Amino acid sequence: MQQPAILNELRRMSARVGNNILLVQGAGGNSSIKHGDVLWVKASGTWLADAEAKDIFVPISLSGARMALAAGNERMPLAPRHGETALRASIEASLHALLPHPVVLHVHSVNTIAWSVRSDATDDLAARLHGLSWRRLDYRHPGLPLAHAVSQISAQGDVDVLVLGNHGLVVGAESCETAEALVKDVEQRLALQPRDGAVGHQGRVHHLCVGTDYREPQHPLCHSLATDPQNLAIATAGSLYPDHVVFLGSALPTLAQGESLANTRRAEVEGLPPPVAVLVPGRGAVIRKDASPGAEAMLTCLALVASRLPLNAAIRYLSSHDEQALLNWDAERYRQQMTSDRGSDRPVHNEAGG
Ligand SMILES: [Zn+2]
Repeated sequence: MQQPAILNELRRMSARVGNNILLVQGAGGNSSIKHGDVLWVKASGTWLADAEAKDIFVPISLSGARMALAAGNERMPLAPRHGETALRASIEASLHALLPHPVVLHVHSVNTIAWSVRSDATDDLAARLHGLSWRRLDYRHPGLPLAHAVSQISAQGDVDVLVLGNHGLVVGAESCETAEALVKDVEQRLALQPRDGAVGHQGRVHHLCVGTDYREPQHPLCHSLATDPQNLAIATAGSLYPDHVVFLGSALPTLAQGESLANTRRAEVEGLPPPVAVLVPGRGAVIRKDASPGAEAMLTCLALVASRLPLNAAIRYLSSHDEQALLNWDAERYRQQMTSDRGSDRPVHNEAGG
């Protein structure tokens, strides 16, 4: 595939952003650059963290993409004369195509998500982002519905920062450097301290996993989903954002006292997939041994987000209709497949590594 030199800048920036678990978890988030009539956008299922090591960008025809969007078509056409690629453009490529900025960066920032799932704190959010050209959107299904909502907003005037309800953050900028700086600026403005006590410890659920399909998660913070009462209440009440649903399902199940993890095989007998992760209240979290690296990253993400929600926060969960739309979506199945193909050789990045 022929690639312009300008792509190197995008690769470096994307890898930096992708290695920060407070911004990107697993195959989430995406970036793009417009070069003439070509939109180079992250491919579905690939990891931004791999941007320097692998080919993760797909050349899309910008004018073709905008025409497809206007016609209500989610499949983005490849740019001509760039050779073949087996990759498919990101689910959110339409969003990148319609925004006018040369560089668009979309992240599942933990801090932004923590603000975006709240139905209160509107004034506080506005005060923190004061001076930026920003807008907040209600939750929309990723892909076309989200792209259409963004297109309506950008038609009303310039906007560089979008807070996507129950989803994340999008910034548009002139260059990779300014896009990354804008994300950093928003992050500092929206920074939330994890609540005291929302910590987890390895080892307390290890014995429960012996002889089962489960193990302890790699990141100790995941246990706080079961040991911190507020985190446990949030994790078991529903789902907060799309990637959680796609990789972990809806609300996380708990293990009742005296119940064995081996019993989760019951679900298989009944023709249901066994839960990817289970919370043992007061003890810790467990995840399936065959869970994809993407699922592992999403469990960590939930702990990072839940720990940042104040005790009195009014939280908006995704509806069961939203969840079903995510689970029955062909584009998502493709992305999940791609993510699990990535292999489990890569450790989940910890917070300090960001
Ligand atoms: Zn997203």
